[in-house]
Amino acid sequence: MSTAAPFVPGPEHREVVFLTGSGLSARTGLGTFRGPEGLWALEPETEQAMHASLLPTSLPQLWAVWGRMASIALAHGPTPGHRAIARLGAPVITQNVDGLHQAAGSEVVAELHGSALHAVCLGRRCDWRAVLAPGEGSSPEGHGVPGHCPRCGEPTRPDVVLFDEQLPSAELELAMRLAQRADLFVVVGTSGVVFPAAQLAPLAREHGATTVLVDIAPPHGSSELFDHVLAEDAHEVLPAWERRVHRVGGTSFLDPFGA
Ligand SMILES: [Zn+2]
Repeated sequence: MSTAAPFVPGPEHREVVFLTGSGLSARTGLGTFRGPEGLWALEPETEQAMHASLLPTSLPQLWAVWGRMASIALAHGPTPGHRAIARLGAPVITQNVDGLHQAAGSEVVAELHGSALHAVCLGRRCDWRAVLAPGEGSSPEGHGVPGHCPRCGEPTRPDVVLFDEQLPSAELELAMRLAQRADLFVVVGTSGVVFPAAQLAPLAREHGATTVLVDIAPPHGSSELFDHVLAEDAHEVLPAWERRVHRVGGTSFLDPFGA
């Protein structure tokens, strides 16, 4: 905890961009993937299935894992942090695949790791995509999508980026554009010291942004990467920012008195 006055957005911050990770969704029951309590640690065979080299054999396991995640996300809905970000009207770059930013009402969302709420075609040059109706089990039909692509007949798969797969280039380009135009770049629920946060936050800073990490337990070294590190709960910090903005009636951080 810092003893100085905590950082709050000011009138100079007109282009706020968030970068979010699994920590923001942790209280939904989705958990985080890494760390001692993470999904990978609990189910090592699940981590194994996340390697692209195991496709298409791993498809049943992928449908089970990501279909379940989609079910949990839809049942729980967005957290106070997701809602505050949406009400701030800020674009979001996210590593999450749970669709909760869109569910909260965020309009511009760069999904760097894809979406567990969508199915795509395993055929690399086919652009078929469909929304899941997530249910139970390890078959695509159990999650409301056909097992084979209606366009080309290849198997379908969850639209989630696996290990050894490239990040979707359009989403990555959007993320870089957002980072470059931000004047306040806020990282929430991801360590901030690994890709993509470790590249995007410095990119934003190079282009003039103030960078902030909100993390209840900031990782070692984060104070060198960010202008401000708030060791606080994002579900309290972000709604407080949002109330502050809306108390002064503006759509950006126009608060000349620093109330
Ligand atoms: Zn296809």
